[in-house]
Amino acid sequence: LVELDRAHLIHPVASWRGHEQAGVRLLTSAKGATVTDTADRHLLDGFSGLWCVNAGYGHDSIVEAASRQMRELPYATGYFGLGSEPAVRLAAELAERAPGDLNHVYFTLGGSDAVDSSVRFISYYHHAKGEPQRDQFISLEHGYHGSSTVGAGLTALSAFHQGFGLPYPWQHKIPSSYPYRNSAGTDDASNIAASVAALRAKVAEIGADRVAAFYAEPIQGSGGVIVPPRGWMKAMRDTCLELGILFVADEVITGFGRTGPLFACAEDDVVPDLLTVAKGLTSGYAPMGAVFLSEHVYNTIADGAGSSAVGHGFTYSAHPVSAAVGLEVLRLYEEGGLLANGRVMGARLMEGLQSLSDHPLVGDVRGRGMLAALELVIDKERKTPLPAAAEAGRRIFERAWDCGLIIRAFAHGCIGYAPPLCCTEAEIDAIVEKTRRVLDLTLEDG
Ligand code: PMP
Repeated sequence: LVELDRAHLIHPVASWRGHEQAGVRLLTSAKGATVTDTADRHLLDGFSGLWCVNAGYGHDSIVEAASRQMRELPYATGYFGLGSEPAVRLAAELAERAPGDLNHVYFTLGGSDAVDSSVRFISYYHHAKGEPQRDQFISLEHGYHGSSTVGAGLTALSAFHQGFGLPYPWQHKIPSSYPYRNSAGTDDASNIAASVAALRAKVAEIGADRVAAFYAEPIQGSGGVIVPPRGWMKAMRDTCLELGILFVADEVITGFGRTGPLFACAEDDVVPDLLTVAKGLTSGYAPMGAVFLSEHVYNTIADGAGSSAVGHGFTYSAHPVSAAVGLEVLRLYEEGGLLANGRVMGARLMEGLQSLSDHPLVGDVRGRGMLAALELVIDKERKTPLPAAAEAGRRIFERAWDCGLIIRAFAHGCIGYAPPLCCTEAEIDAIVEKTRRVLDLTLEDG
């Protein structure tokens, strides 16, 4: 299998970065927060796959919901006014729980196409309003919004920018809040003020009547789990309102209990104009993402659709099996107590990781709920980043694997945590203890 993998299977990102040296690690089964590999080794999944298996592995009720749906109706297109019951029900359940009047749901296959779809909807919105010149988009440094070309251009991570002239000339960036490394100051007020000023300046530079929308993750995930101060998102949202530009919250990682509630926006008292989700929506059991449109965005597009055609859709939009999975996953989050457990375990995880803050390699400990990171440095005072961070990260991943833990070492020397919400106290404590061992080994290694 390792040879067949090397010969034939292209992995996301990894294939191009010499994973051949290590060879693929194949997983065979999983239960709760534990995955098993081909050598029958059990590993604690501290990253929920790729921040997605929020519900944890091995829920028979999800399997039953999916197989029932496959038997009854595996597919129904959303085209020509057709549809399926689970898709309608899931849209309604989600709209009821989404912040404010984000009542209209468009289903995609994952996060990148949810972001792409949101960009198109925004373009349709401004055309319908008679302001087609509003075609410039702003997002944040350290942000990640997918790896389709449009999403990759909104993404700030340069590894995603080869070719196509990315980011596109209409995709602009401003600094993110990044409390640990913000030269504007580490106190919350100056941090927030700096971000607001940066957004205003960028809008003025582009032209106040040219900007379509501003994109932000409530917590920046792939950029290093960067947690802005409380009040940051509200300040950015309010600034967008004042400047007359749309605010889009990308909750592909932060949604569905990852930071506590179903939507991180809600806890910050923010109602975006559009909101994107994926990952925890179906918890990895089936592919699905979604864009939520607020009433005014939806109605403006719908009212203007007669004059400008709205051509956008995927064969697998609102897939019935994914929708059936989404409904059962939602039930597990709420009635099954996963959100509640995630909140308790998230607090324990943060406390545990804080106890590592006096380790010589740990520069910063940050997170919210079951989403956290350590930022490793070689000089705490100067906050000097790990040299050769990519190579160091690979070794940290391997050491953690050898200790029976899957964590993600990424983005300039950060270690990311996103355990399943079903974790027990013992599992959270094991994640912290194994991390301590990995850090000690890393230090010993020089
Ligand atoms: N937006 C954010 C905030 C993400 O974290 C991701 C994936 N990590 C995406 C979009 C893209 O989602 P997908 O990988 O499902 O296409």
